[in-house]
Amino acid sequence: MRQYTEILKETQEIDRIICNKCGKEIPVLKGVPQEDVLEVEKRWGYFSDKDNQVDRFDLCEECYDELVKSFRIKMRN
Ligand SMILES: [Zn+2]
Repeated sequence: MRQYTEILKETQEIDRIICNKCGKEIPVLKGVPQEDVLEVEKRWGYFSDKDNQVDRFDLCEECYDELVKSFRIKMRN
């Protein structure tokens, strides 16, 4: 989840990022997040039950690690 300050009418700067899973706040200094996060934006298509719905969320690194640990098929890097 991203919270913004409106600077000019069309310009926004990120204030803070909050992990959607654990609620941890990732500090942002001058628009730059001080920790890396997983940012997801997914527009669901016609062949889903959510036609055209856009879902957005952020996960901190710890929650990301937890998520990928739960995968039955491990990631390759
Ligand atoms: Zn988290």
